[in-house]
Amino acid sequence: MIQQFELIQRLKQYIPHLDETPINKAYVFAMKVHGAQLRASGDPYFSHPLEVANILIDLRLDPASIITALLHDTVEDTSATLDEIKALFGHEIAQLVDGVTKLTRIELQSEETKQAENFRKLVLAMSSDIRVLIVKLADRLHNMRTLHYIKKREKRNRIARETMDIYAPLAERIGMHSVKDELEDLSFSILNPEGRESILSRLRYLHEVSGQHIETILLELRQLMDAHHIDISLSGREKTPFSIWRKMQIQNIAFEQLADIMAFRILVDTVPACYQVLGILHGEYSLIPGRFKDYISMPKNNGYQSLHTSLIGPMNQRIEVQIRTRDMQKIAEYGVAAHWYYKKTQHDVVHRTASHGIENPSEKTAPMEGKQYAWLRGLLDILEHAHNPQEFLEHTKLEMFADQVFCFTPKGDVIALPKGATTVDFAYTLHSEVGDRTVAARINGRQMPLRTVLHNGDQVEIVTSPSQNPSPAWERFVITGKARARIRKFVRQQQHSQFLELGKSLLRRVFEKEGLDFNDDTLKQVADLYNVPADDTILSVGQGHITAKDIFEKLKNRQSTLNTHPMPVHHAREDLSPTQPVSIQGLIPGMALHYSKCCHPIPGDTIVGIVSEGRGVHVHTFDCEHIVHFKEPERLLHLSWNHNIDETARFVTRMSITFLNQQGCLARVMSLIAGQGGNISNLRVMHRTAEFWDISIDIEVSGHDHLSSILAALRTSPIISKAERH
Ligand code: MN
Repeated sequence: MIQQFELIQRLKQYIPHLDETPINKAYVFAMKVHGAQLRASGDPYFSHPLEVANILIDLRLDPASIITALLHDTVEDTSATLDEIKALFGHEIAQLVDGVTKLTRIELQSEETKQAENFRKLVLAMSSDIRVLIVKLADRLHNMRTLHYIKKREKRNRIARETMDIYAPLAERIGMHSVKDELEDLSFSILNPEGRESILSRLRYLHEVSGQHIETILLELRQLMDAHHIDISLSGREKTPFSIWRKMQIQNIAFEQLADIMAFRILVDTVPACYQVLGILHGEYSLIPGRFKDYISMPKNNGYQSLHTSLIGPMNQRIEVQIRTRDMQKIAEYGVAAHWYYKKTQHDVVHRTASHGIENPSEKTAPMEGKQYAWLRGLLDILEHAHNPQEFLEHTKLEMFADQVFCFTPKGDVIALPKGATTVDFAYTLHSEVGDRTVAARINGRQMPLRTVLHNGDQVEIVTSPSQNPSPAWERFVITGKARARIRKFVRQQQHSQFLELGKSLLRRVFEKEGLDFNDDTLKQVADLYNVPADDTILSVGQGHITAKDIFEKLKNRQSTLNTHPMPVHHAREDLSPTQPVSIQGLIPGMALHYSKCCHPIPGDTIVGIVSEGRGVHVHTFDCEHIVHFKEPERLLHLSWNHNIDETARFVTRMSITFLNQQGCLARVMSLIAGQGGNISNLRVMHRTAEFWDISIDIEVSGHDHLSSILAALRTSPIISKAERH
């Protein structure tokens, strides 16, 4: 286990003026809170965060990342809290530790990694600071190095699979190739030990029959470049068993045909020198066709730049050679982390690149300008020019998936949604049927309003009911096209049948007022009238385009001219009052029926409707100002409440209350209303003087009786001077 002083020493090698205090503090704190906890290996638990810190020091990361590594498991696995971390180490560290903790929780939540692509995006999106992801990758790397201590085979396999599918690609995405290679090879050794062993034994055999080639080839390449007076750094290695295995799989070829079991790397100072080295190699050795790649003019997505070629090299060995500048090597090796390593020399690098650009036009199109390289380049620029931690944190937020959120189903599947999506969008993404039947949603185990906007990592459970239907209100907050289209379609269908229903009620009323029956025969006559299906005409009546009276008059005129089909007189109905109201039974509020916001009608009120063209009926109370002054009696409609209104239905009514301005009085008013089962949906303070409060309050009630009981309760209270319906 690495000691405290060694850790400091290693850090000081690249940060000479290191402030040791916070590092020491984190070391002691983590050791203390992890206490006697043990790893599966039998080592003290604290050895793990220490090793993670050590890996990050290899990558030359900044002190904040090292401290985060030391603390990364304290919140999740010990009694330590985030507040404690914040108090001891400050805001920046607390944010980083929180980020890593959240990623760890996500990891525990998802049992399956079948949706690797979405999961990778989720991890990226949650790594608000790139250092969170880097610490997480180092954490995973150490866990992989010690994975063989885990006894359960299924668990080992699951973790290895997850590493292969998610963390190795992430390491590659941010350009950390050495981390990616090691993660892959460690996973490979768990998932396919036989496959790996077969590669290793093959390599051993090759070494036996033809000895160690690498040294000899290195020497010959060195001499070749010396002869051309080119200053190079040279290294060679055998590829990892996993990369050899994968090449065999992808290219579907035998081991012997593999060109690149050995890979050599030549580093030079400038881009022109890269192409010069390439020319020398291609002149000296035969190249293997189809293997040349120019990642300098076409960088990879993660910013990687290099020339790759495969040759029949020295000693007739098939080798792969990578040629790049020393600057490109920094990116290839550390990826984003290169920034901290080379922060000191960044200025020189930029300066040098610029001057070369002037000397040689080919340089301009090369390194730092490539489009593919932009995101990393942008990130490095921001890091370079950010002067304080605040600015730094703000700018390093990964924007790659800023327009998406990723949420879990209770089973752990990841659902990708556009940013701003709500629980209803989530439900429709699962299945249209689920969306249509949604009645409630639980987010992270807690019931939340359907309109709640989802956040990364939320676990969402949709509660459905077979009797539920899409609500027109949902259309106002859903943002996905699928949800919107489904809801609209349903609302349109619903409106159609609602207007039809309303049209029938209106026609029936006119007919019955005249003492006539409204039956199938009448419907047939209505159809004949315009020579279109009766429903079309009735719909027009419901929508207010034609009045029911018009239809009636037209039918009457037609009959008197044709003198056929006399309208049947229904004598039993003659005693009916001519003002027989239209029942609003079956009409859904918000569709063909709207409760007006001026008088807030509730069951028990005498109600009147105004038919407005295309929008259905607006319901007002009989004494509403609006009705009293309404000038078009032909559009007025006497309405009646449905006699068996659902007991759970609630209607909003408004009341004004005046009460004493004394301590606790407002609370008393609220509790009086709540005591009568009234739910407050809105509250406005109209006046407040030294003596009195004047408030206007919207309350959901079941009807007249309910409202009366609330008013009575309020009026009996000595603190209330006035309480009345608005
Ligand atoms: Mn850990």
